[in-house]
Amino acid sequence: MKKNIGMMKPKCLVCKSSIGVIRDGIQWVCEICGSNWPVERGEMKTKKEILGAIIRERNRQDIKWGEQNHTPYEWLVILMEEVGEASKAALDALSPEDYLLYQKECIHVAAVAVAMIESLNRDGGNE
Ligand SMILES: [Mg+2]
Ligand SMILES: [Zn+2]
Repeated sequence: MKKNIGMMKPKCLVCKSSIGVIRDGIQWVCEICGSNWPVERGEMKTKKEILGAIIRERNRQDIKWGEQNHTPYEWLVILMEEVGEASKAALDALSPEDYLLYQKECIHVAAVAVAMIESLNRDGGNE
């Protein structure tokens, strides 16, 4: 029997709708009532789901800051800042829920690594 690796869509915690709930990175969003809540630890199992979360974070960064071009040294400092945030979240994690913040920071680390490669491959982004 084929194991179902798909994710169960939860019902909205507020309006109880089961049709309007979508995944947005590491949170669930109800399109009916607009409420959102974090995914549980273990709800993001497949590479496809994780890479999807990283791409959504990259899109969020583009909306927030626009195209970012930095030297490799500058990018490494930005990456290490995110690694520092992931380290702090790991140190501070005392309960399973706390690992949601650690997971979020890991996605930031991965998204910055993607941005570094994008920058390097743009004209003038690798001076
Ligand atoms: Mg961060
Ligand atoms: Zn709702």
